Amino acid sequence: MKQIVLLGSTGSIGTQTIEVCLQHHYQIVGLSAGSNIRLLAEQARLLKPKTVCVAREDLRSDLQALLADTDISVTAGKEALCDLAATSCDVVLNAVVGMAGLPLTMAAIGAGNTLALANKESLVAGGELVMEAAKKNRVSILPVDSEHSAIFQCLQGCPEKSLQKIILTASGGPFFGKKREELTKVTVADALAHPNWSMGQKITVDSATLMNKGLEVIEACHLFDVSPDQIEVVVQRESIIHSAVELTDRSVIAQMGVPDMKIPIQYALTYPERMICDVKPLDLISLGRITFAKPDTQTFRCLDLCVNAMRRGGILPGVANAANEEAVAMFLAGKIGFLEIADLVEEAMTKFSSLQIETVPGRMALYHEVRSFVHEKAASGHIIID
Ligand code: NAD
Ligand code: MG
Repeated sequence: MKQIVLLGSTGSIGTQTIEVCLQHHYQIVGLSAGSNIRLLAEQARLLKPKTVCVAREDLRSDLQALLADTDISVTAGKEALCDLAATSCDVVLNAVVGMAGLPLTMAAIGAGNTLALANKESLVAGGELVMEAAKKNRVSILPVDSEHSAIFQCLQGCPEKSLQKIILTASGGPFFGKKREELTKVTVADALAHPNWSMGQKITVDSATLMNKGLEVIEACHLFDVSPDQIEVVVQRESIIHSAVELTDRSVIAQMGVPDMKIPIQYALTYPERMICDVKPLDLISLGRITFAKPDTQTFRCLDLCVNAMRRGGILPGVANAANEEAVAMFLAGKIGFLEIADLVEEAMTKFSSLQIETVPGRMALYHEVRSFVHEKAASGHIIID
């Protein structure tokens, strides 16, 4: 029976991962969440892990009280989260949102644990540092992000070096087809109404700005060792083709399926096995057709900002990511408008362009500085709501 440590268990990916683990009788030995201790305690009662950890230290005693009649060990804080990620197990699934996931990714890799990675921000923020650590520790990173899982699946059985190009598909998000002028007054509710996927709030906003696709370009460069110029982003509104690869002989192999994260989550956990997955089958006849379009990078500027950050390399992708995290948090709090998100990402990239930092703690400190910069910048003139 596989033993799994699940980080970010109360979120969208976390709760779906639990469903997959229950279906296949995988044993969850560790669970963690940011602050939702009620759900965390409920999950702990159901799954009986050895340890549960809450990121917020001030919630430790409340969580202990909720689990007082069990023998589950309760821990709290950032260090305890890293200890949990380093627990010996078959797979650590990192489903935390944001760059807070980076130290956990590094801890799992440092301990030699196979890493199923949903937390794309850790790869964007840690970049080559994460990939080098994985190589050094001979750790496999199994993608959970649907596009990267698709690419990974397409490459199974392909000779090394046969990958020429990645076709990274995008749904286009809720504002596909709209122009800049139409986006000045969009509300948080508008941005959270994704047409095909039900996800956490932050990634849903990232899908609306196309930042998510930008982060995924960076993620793909690292995971599959390609340059941004080898990646073509194609809008595929129905979210049926999850991505494709073009090989040396111009064969194109795509992975298709209904838009349900349980498929890539399960593949990362069962790899290299294929098992029955509790999702609807793909019905192509009912679907009728699959459409393709070019992304509108004039309106949705975050995609090109990320591609440029990756071309320039170093800390810039992480800076873009940190700036975006702060900007999205401010957008969700009603403090800035939708279009300001890209402006703030660009301003942070200009401000922090020339630094070289080669350690994860050093980068994390810088990213916190980037977040403060964005916060102050927005407070001093970018606010268009209120
Ligand atoms: P979510 O907001 O629904 O859940 C995030 C989880 O992380 C929660 O359990 C939360 O308690 C925990 N968390 C938040 N802040 C934390 C912190 N500082 N320290 C520790 N834990 C913290 O997010 P989600 O939609 O499940 O996304 C999780 C990750 O997976 C993101 O990186 C996202 O980009 C990626 N992803 C999500 C989907 C999807 O369908 N939701 C698809 C592809 C990739
Ligand atoms: Mg994705």
